[in-house]
Amino acid sequence: MQATGTPASSQDVSNCTQRSVAKSHELPYGSSYESPWMNAELHAFRSTARKFIHTEFAPRQARWREQRYPDADAWMQAGKAGILLPDIPREFGGGGGTFAHEAVVLEELARAGVYFGASTQNAVAHYIFAYGSEQQKRSWLPRMARGELVGAVAMTEPLAGSDLQSIKTTAHRVGDRYVLNGMKMFVTDGFHAKIICVASKTGNGSAGPKGISLVMVEADDLHGYRVGQPLEKVGMNQQDTCEMYFDDVRVPASNLLGTAEGKGFSQMMEQLSYERLSVAVGAIAVVERAVALTTQYAKERTVFGKSLMDYQNTRFKLAECKTQAHVGRVFLDDCIERFLTDSLDDVTSAMAKCWLTDAQCRILDECLQLHGGYGYLVDYPIARMWADSRVQRIYAGTNEIMKELIAWSL
Ligand SMILES: Cc1cc2nc3c(=O)[nH]c(=O)nc-3n(C[C@H](O)[C@H](O)[C@H](O)COP(=O)(O)OP(=O)(O)OC[C@H]3O[C@@H](n4cnc5c(N)ncnc54)[C@H](O)[C@@H]3O)c2cc1C
Repeated sequence: MQATGTPASSQDVSNCTQRSVAKSHELPYGSSYESPWMNAELHAFRSTARKFIHTEFAPRQARWREQRYPDADAWMQAGKAGILLPDIPREFGGGGGTFAHEAVVLEELARAGVYFGASTQNAVAHYIFAYGSEQQKRSWLPRMARGELVGAVAMTEPLAGSDLQSIKTTAHRVGDRYVLNGMKMFVTDGFHAKIICVASKTGNGSAGPKGISLVMVEADDLHGYRVGQPLEKVGMNQQDTCEMYFDDVRVPASNLLGTAEGKGFSQMMEQLSYERLSVAVGAIAVVERAVALTTQYAKERTVFGKSLMDYQNTRFKLAECKTQAHVGRVFLDDCIERFLTDSLDDVTSAMAKCWLTDAQCRILDECLQLHGGYGYLVDYPIARMWADSRVQRIYAGTNEIMKELIAWSL
């Protein structure tokens, strides 16, 4: 906030100016504000991640969209570039950083319009890191960090989305194995997934949260396991979303996540907070890019003999969008800082997911409108950004469910 505040003295003016000059050359979209959690090491990491994403992934987006999944080799490339599992400790193959490193990767991917499921990979790694045994961590995390093993989270079912307690997939213990039966819906990264965190009913199938466990499925050449073709979505088609089928799939009993059955629901609730913050990070990155692109478009486009920017409506709309983007950024940065010090509560992360993704869709719609008919053409980045944004209000818990969570705290 400092660089945008009103200085109280000439000394403050000088300090503000120096801060702005020192930082603005690093900032992507002309803002003088810098996230307080950024530092020199994160700038260097951002620069490497940005270069890799722009050189290696951005040019392949059209093909990925067409085929509806990222190229298989993208995972190993991303692993080599160091953008997978950046906040998992080095002893398990990760980057040894913090959530700030993950936020940098998510921002750079979102700004480049590149989607390939990196945040899902990281989410799976965090389930394993938080609840896995030493052996599970050593077996799966290094391979996930290298991109050799792609992860997916399979919670949703056709009749159980928001209401996760209603899942029907079962994992019955038979000797030293779990036998899984059921179907999962909307699994991100499902197409290439080789390690899947499956929410299942265990034990005597008792109803409610205590009957749910997370069972890890290693899906390489596994009898009874099948994944459907990537679903055709409104946006984000370069990142696959699949159905999964488990017919008498047998996995070692040691693949249970956690020390006992019945902990799956509370594990999901704990980890969803991380996922929601990740969604919020992507939301603001997209919004900032949209406002910058639309501002540039409005300055270049002529209507009735004048620049589109010369109309008060355009300036006011963009002023509103920029203000909302900045308010959102400051709120998000506060959430990130609190997360980094382990003091972000579930209610605030639900607020961030809900408010920032609602703002994202609202602002993207205004930005598209300012592009006129061109905003509806997929060749214009704003059109794709608008379509890609819509799902943000739906996954990782719908925004209505976020409001329920927030309301419970009233
Ligand atoms: C692109 C994409 C990727 C996804 N990735 C994954 C993934 O990797 N893994 C995974 O497990 N799932 C994934 N999902 C699923 C996603 O999490 C669910 O779609 C979401 O939780 C909503 O469930 P649903 O679709 O069954 O909608 P429903 O639960 O049927 O909801 C329908 C509507 O009812 C509203 N509603 C529901 N309950 C309430 C309530 N109590 N009060 C008020 N309103 C309510 C909802 O907000 C929504 O508007 C993905 C979905 C998409 C579209």
